[in-house]
Amino acid sequence: MKNIQSVRGMNDLLPDQIAVWHRVEAVLRAVSERYGYQEIRTPMVEKTALFTQSIGDQTDIVEKEMYTFVDAGEESLTLRPESTASTVRACIQHGLIHNRQIRLWYMGPMFRRERPQRGRYRQFHQFGIEALGWPGPDIDGEIIRVGERIWKELGIQGLVLEINALGSERSRAAYRQALTGFLTERKDYLDEVSRRRLHTNPLRILDNKNPGVQEILKDAPVLQDFMETDEQEHFESLCSSLEQSGISYRINPRLVRGLDYYSGTVFEWITDQLGAQSAVCAGGRYDKLIANRGGKDTPGIGFAMGLERLIELVMLQSEKVETQPIHAYMIDLTDRSDITTRIAETLRDRGLNVIEHCGGGKLKNQLRKADQLGAVLALIRGQDEAESGVVQLKPLRDNKPHSNVPVEEVVGQCVKTLMYYIEQEKIHIKN
Ligand code: ATP
Ligand code: MG
Repeated sequence: MKNIQSVRGMNDLLPDQIAVWHRVEAVLRAVSERYGYQEIRTPMVEKTALFTQSIGDQTDIVEKEMYTFVDAGEESLTLRPESTASTVRACIQHGLIHNRQIRLWYMGPMFRRERPQRGRYRQFHQFGIEALGWPGPDIDGEIIRVGERIWKELGIQGLVLEINALGSERSRAAYRQALTGFLTERKDYLDEVSRRRLHTNPLRILDNKNPGVQEILKDAPVLQDFMETDEQEHFESLCSSLEQSGISYRINPRLVRGLDYYSGTVFEWITDQLGAQSAVCAGGRYDKLIANRGGKDTPGIGFAMGLERLIELVMLQSEKVETQPIHAYMIDLTDRSDITTRIAETLRDRGLNVIEHCGGGKLKNQLRKADQLGAVLALIRGQDEAESGVVQLKPLRDNKPHSNVPVEEVVGQCVKTLMYYIEQEKIHIKN
């Protein structure tokens, strides 16, 4: 039988990769809580219509990236490609935004059938926040400050914040018309994708990377000129709030974002350190999404960041994250190993990480195992130790001599020895 491998673009996360994931996830959780955001967990599978109607059927995601299948009940279901649509659905369904506002965060796997490459996978993870119910620019500033604090706490530098305003549906409609007119006159110079988008989603042509198309766009009308006064003021107010917080940003009039539900403020943090993939975090306002989904007219804003890209940056930029050490490795060569087990459990009560050797074997081999696992101490109880009521405490990280400790003092002595190593900064320990 042929070995079955994982699905292309869907990765295993192996034990030696987990430490950095845990650290990043802990920071994301802590920062969310510090701003008063609450966690929401929605299912990984939703009805297909949720995504086609929310994200828009002319978008990359809906056109070609969704994992859609018909289940045994003849229902079309889709693995979630992002989480804003699900979050909004859940809020409407459970009345979470009925006459109130809410700050939420989520984290988990998303699925898009893209061409796998560095920083782009078919199963990937996103962390995101959503603030529902606030129309003003103050919350826009807060959302961006949450992102900035995450970079700060993770020690990530060199991200560039780009922002833009997409205007309301009305101003965008006027702009769309002007842009379509402008581009139709220059249709022959457009590439095939852009020509197709001319009638379906002309704004998306703005972020076309084709140099020829970019050249034409230089003289294209800009959305800002079509925005109404209050929309201009919203954007200006956000800009000055960022300046007051000391956050540098770049206005990019070509930043349009790939999902249909955006309106007003949009933003992205980009980097040149991840090869072809530049976006680490992206988001914006979606003031009409909730009403379009059948909820009461409620404004919303949020962002999502790709954890694989974020973690790659963390690994490029900060020191290696230590895995939790094994503090003690228990070796018992007698036929009364319950005493050793009891010591191990007491050490665990004290918050220590302890492995009990399983499977027997020679002392030498058991010690080799302890060493391979990077244990700090080995606790050995052989026949001689058992007869004199002691346990041998053997440091494995340096050449310190071993000592024989009475059974009832072993736990205290272990803790004392470990404290010594912590002070010497030889190991890190939680709590
Ligand atoms: P891109 O332009 O890179 O395709 P996007 O606009 O499709 O990004 P969003 O839908 O805004 O991305 O998702 C937010 C973030 O999620 C991205 O900035 C990126 O960090 C991450 N992301 C999106 N798609 C993938 C993927 N296939 N693999 C890994 N990370 C991804
Ligand atoms: Mg994409």
